[in-house]
Amino acid sequence: MNVYIESLGCFKNKADTEKFVNKLIQHDIAIVRDPAASNIIIINTCGFIKPAVEESIERILELSKFKEKGAKLVAFGCMIERYKHEIKHLIPELDFTTGINSFEKLINYLLINKEKNLHNILSKKDAYIITNLPYYSYVKIADGCNNRCSYCMIPFIKGELKSVKLDNVKRSVKNLINMGVKEINIVAQDITKYGIDIYGEYKLCSLLDAILNIDGDFYIRLLYLNPDGIENNLLDLIKNSSKIIKYLDIPIQHASDKILKMMNRKIDSISLFKLFEKIRHNMPDLFLRTTAIVGFPSENNYDFNKLLEFINTFSPEWAGFFRYYPEEGTPSYNFKGRINKKIVDERLNILEIAQINNINQRFKKLIGTNIKVFIEKPLEKPVNNANYTYSGRSLLQAPEIDGKCYIKVDNNIAINNFGPYNALISDFKYPDIFVTLN
Ligand code: SF4
Repeated sequence: MNVYIESLGCFKNKADTEKFVNKLIQHDIAIVRDPAASNIIIINTCGFIKPAVEESIERILELSKFKEKGAKLVAFGCMIERYKHEIKHLIPELDFTTGINSFEKLINYLLINKEKNLHNILSKKDAYIITNLPYYSYVKIADGCNNRCSYCMIPFIKGELKSVKLDNVKRSVKNLINMGVKEINIVAQDITKYGIDIYGEYKLCSLLDAILNIDGDFYIRLLYLNPDGIENNLLDLIKNSSKIIKYLDIPIQHASDKILKMMNRKIDSISLFKLFEKIRHNMPDLFLRTTAIVGFPSENNYDFNKLLEFINTFSPEWAGFFRYYPEEGTPSYNFKGRINKKIVDERLNILEIAQINNINQRFKKLIGTNIKVFIEKPLEKPVNNANYTYSGRSLLQAPEIDGKCYIKVDNNIAINNFGPYNALISDFKYPDIFVTLN
């Protein structure tokens, strides 16, 4: 039996998919890259906001064409959890569904079908992990969230925070390092709250200490740190460790006190400004990523300008600006003062232009400096000019969201693994970085 699997949505979903794929391999279930070669097609869905739900439904329907050839269609994850009572009626094409935290049910379903021995096209040796290139991986240290931001469905879908025990996380990281993974991306809905549910206190620093004690040549990237949970000891640890990438993903969501309060964020604008000042002052080389929601109910020009001021003051190198979506079932769904789409579009446009200007300025100063890059593949057609012949990613870029790296390689340098290699920054065209190996 061959299984084709696709992961939609965020990197936390991807971490789940990776874990699931590993379980399939343990059960001798072959994974294939081509849905046409599969007996069972599985989609890990996203149900975070309406567009993500629509994308999940569209993709399920697209893949349903393979049912004509006898494949079964299975979906799990957030979208299924969110609509568990309606899903059979909503998408009758699905043969089996299960929400979150129910890998076992899904594995049992697959094993029953495996016994039926549907046409065996490929064997276990053809199975390989399909979610990422093998040099990087995601480790989810907790699921669920207690923060209860007023616009967010996640706590309703995933429930309260559930941390993975420290020893288990350490074991997963160690296994990945032994498999040759060089970059471990630590993810959860909010990694700063790690451990409070099982240890009664925040344990992210202890977890990082334990991971940093593992022997090996690897890097750690910290994704999704809510600003209210970032403490001085965590910043010190990041600053002093050569294995923690100087890159932090800190979603601010807004910078106006009125909106932060309505969002039920646990930080005010003064503390937010102080935190970012501290980070910029103590680690001037660190790259920041943030996200913000635009057009939250009642957001006026004053509120928007506070957000713009924040972006212009701290110039996060990478940023995602998202339109507010009223999600039925969340507290903010009933808030008055929905913002007209045209105004939201204008505000998004202003932020995006400001952000691109900021990062262009930043990279102007970085040209000629050193960075580490992973080389992923030779380019079919050289980019920019004939000298950039490989594509990859630098440590300043998180996988899949911050653009690519185009790499010029001297003939004398042998490229026989992903790296990382030392390189000089030679050019920047938003969002891509051009480098020369040295
Ligand atoms: S921190 Fe807020 S936005 Fe993020 S998952 Fe938790 S409730 Fe949702």
